[in-house]
Amino acid sequence: MNILESKNINLLIDFDSTFVKVETLDILAEVCFGSDSNAVNNINDITNKAMNGEIPFDIALKKRVTILKANKKHINKTITIIKDSISKSFYKNKDFFKKNAANCFIVSGGFKEIIFPIVKSFGFKDENVYGNEFIYKNNGEIKTINRDNPLAHKLGKIKIANQINQNLSMNEYYKKNLIIGDGFTDYEIKKFGGAEKFIQFSENINRSILNPLADHIAYSFDDVINYIQKNL
Ligand SMILES: [Mg+2]
Repeated sequence: MNILESKNINLLIDFDSTFVKVETLDILAEVCFGSDSNAVNNINDITNKAMNGEIPFDIALKKRVTILKANKKHINKTITIIKDSISKSFYKNKDFFKKNAANCFIVSGGFKEIIFPIVKSFGFKDENVYGNEFIYKNNGEIKTINRDNPLAHKLGKIKIANQINQNLSMNEYYKKNLIIGDGFTDYEIKKFGGAEKFIQFSENINRSILNPLADHIAYSFDDVINYIQKNL
């Protein structure tokens, strides 16, 4: 049964440290620089500060992409590594996603080019996957990111959440957005009205600063399904 449809819910899912165990840009940095370089530590540090809400997401993103100097080969290698890093309880619930694909969305500050090949086998539809976009130079190096994409900016996830709701409000049912994620930008979706509930996902990392702000702290995706069944 499509439980999300029967409860009029859209599940908005973060990617880094939620759908997968890792942070994409941290892995990309390791691919570019090897695991013990200063550049990698520098990128990890910026990622953590952004996810704890200490520096704005857009500034953190720009800084990291500039440090990386990545190319298409690095991206392809990163996809291969991340495919093996899917969060345990997401992997276990692959059937849930296949059955509920119409109501599941990825909303990520990461990159669609990396995310889609990974979530595709879970049944996610191309149009339900929202992420940033790299712009390449002719030689295959990443030049910059697409600044026209709302996700490249502060509070971009809220714009996307509202857009998802608007698209669906033309249908006969109004749907509730739930956001599940590990980071501050996920909490902000709820804070600014883009979702009714923020479910903090702590299977991979528990950012304790967010605990008091969460409607529910889920230790696994099974826990998310339980929460939806019992409380919504
Ligand atoms: Mg995350």
